[in-house]
Amino acid sequence: MADTTALPESEAHQVLHRVFGYDEFRGRQRDIIETVVAGGDALVLMPTGGGKSLCYQIPALVRSGVGVVISPLIALMQDQVDALTALGVRAGFLNSTQDYEQRREVERAFLAGELDLLYLAPERLRVEATVRLLDQGKISLFAIDEAHCVSQWGHDFRPDYLMLSELHERWPDVPRIALTATATEATHAEIATRLNLSEAKHFVASFDRPNIQYRIAPKDNPQRQLLDLLRTEHAGDAGIVYCLSRNSVEKTAAFLTQNGIEAVPYHAGLDNRTRAKNQARFLREDGLVVVATIAFGMGIDKPDVRFVAHLDLPKSVEGYYQETGRAGRDGLPSTAWLAYGLQDVVQQRKMIDTSEGDLAHRRRLSAHLDAMLALCETVQCRRTQLLAYFGQQGEACDNCDTCLTPPESWDGTIAAQKLLSAVYRLKNERNQKFGAGQVIDILLGKQTEKVTQFRHDQLSVFGIGTELKDAEWRGVIRQLLAQRLLAVEGDYGTLVLTEDSAEVLGRRREVMMRREPERVARSKSSSSGGKKKTVDLPAEAAPTFERLRGWRAGVAKEQGVPAYVIFHDATLRQIATELPTTLAELGRISGVGENKLAKYGDGVLETLAAE
Ligand code: ADP
Ligand code: ZN
Repeated sequence: MADTTALPESEAHQVLHRVFGYDEFRGRQRDIIETVVAGGDALVLMPTGGGKSLCYQIPALVRSGVGVVISPLIALMQDQVDALTALGVRAGFLNSTQDYEQRREVERAFLAGELDLLYLAPERLRVEATVRLLDQGKISLFAIDEAHCVSQWGHDFRPDYLMLSELHERWPDVPRIALTATATEATHAEIATRLNLSEAKHFVASFDRPNIQYRIAPKDNPQRQLLDLLRTEHAGDAGIVYCLSRNSVEKTAAFLTQNGIEAVPYHAGLDNRTRAKNQARFLREDGLVVVATIAFGMGIDKPDVRFVAHLDLPKSVEGYYQETGRAGRDGLPSTAWLAYGLQDVVQQRKMIDTSEGDLAHRRRLSAHLDAMLALCETVQCRRTQLLAYFGQQGEACDNCDTCLTPPESWDGTIAAQKLLSAVYRLKNERNQKFGAGQVIDILLGKQTEKVTQFRHDQLSVFGIGTELKDAEWRGVIRQLLAQRLLAVEGDYGTLVLTEDSAEVLGRRREVMMRREPERVARSKSSSSGGKKKTVDLPAEAAPTFERLRGWRAGVAKEQGVPAYVIFHDATLRQIATELPTTLAELGRISGVGENKLAKYGDGVLETLAAE
């Protein structure tokens, strides 16, 4: 291995060019790759789509021996191996989906030095036979993907990851590179400690994803809102819709299908075969929508996911950022859209109150939720707030809803006092507790059956809040809950005061609130918004692009691999725009390496030539 470090940069660069078909390293890729090629450890924090894979794939190709990649997602290993095979890289995986024969063959190839990369699930390392196998071969590096899984503070903890701290003791000379797309400063520190990476160089890229437009909308009729979004902005696009419960996953998928948008469900209640089939369809077909619980998507490599929609409030900003990060890996404009309402706050606070685990655990969940709520209620740029959560700075982005249509902030102190006072009177004068709906009816002075029944029209607060509409009062309650000036209790979501409510009632505290602007639609200028402009496809190139996509779909089907394994959209776009006429010209397009040129070059040129 020593001689490979003599000219690491040029050799790594050659591999970048020859195998992957790219001209330049991106961001810190070169430094990271140099570190690992030279035998050093690295800890890499880079957003999804930043190009983490190359950071271990290139060193594995440059150093002698096999690069061992630890990844928690066995369902995706086949696709990862297929993608590498298409590039002419020798890769294999070992996991529980294989039968004895398949495993034996991979083990043989590993021992014979016929592999460049070997993917392993972390639990395999608990099996002594695997450890012995690794001992007998030559390992060039360990790559620990999704490294945040080692963190108990984070949102994705996997106990098997704790064992990875032993890699260094067992193989002290093998460099390790840990990578993650999501880590707060706390999680970052925890990864370094738990994985024993004290000597590692840390590479922290900007977490910004400029091509993703972040939008958080007040929840009204979420399925309709979603349908509207998909019809007006994402017709024919692939995307992921996240819901909290299996039931709403099923219902939403059915709703979209009924309305002419092809959608499949994905959740832990489906049998393994259906789940695997739906995931495979999502990866292989163009423009399919998956409606899923959060069980779906970690490590999904599909580069052309155009939107990620949340119909329920995510439990933490880290989780939210990771889920939305699955959109737009290819750098093209994409949408992250979240619908959020009063009921989300009520439900999540209740879930935390009744969750198992000790007080510290519940506090942690509460802190996560508070940060998520702060993001939803901010009047500042969403992106700036997201980056701040990860300890990074950003400027107003021009590509989020608050930048595009700034919400007003208004002094909600009096409204808050009215509302809290209604809750107070119900409790103190009547010894009653009611949910949001009834309290709002009282403030609006509505003579409903329930108001008459409980004689709530006799309360002094009856009808004192007609200056706001029903929806606005819901916003007030939501924001009071978010700021912990109000709380919910019990199964029916009854409203109760908190310790801090008194400060507002006693006029010792002002409450600033966010007023929802009119609906934000993606404007023409915003679709290519963000600091990093992506090239839109020129209109005259569109038919050629579609033809190339058709050709790609055929090849992908024939070979049983996802379309993006053949070529990414970004590569097809460039081909459709530049219209190369020879193999040499085609080879200069980004994403066309030696192997793909040999395999698919003629097919592409023929497709271009055919009119
Ligand atoms: P991550 O694992 O960080 O989410 P990937 O490794 O999947 O990101 O890379 C995202 C996309 O960027 C892929 O399509 C990849 O091929 C492409 N890419 C990575 N590095 C480069 C580069 N230096 N030049 C051009 N494209 C790159
Ligand atoms: Zn912004």
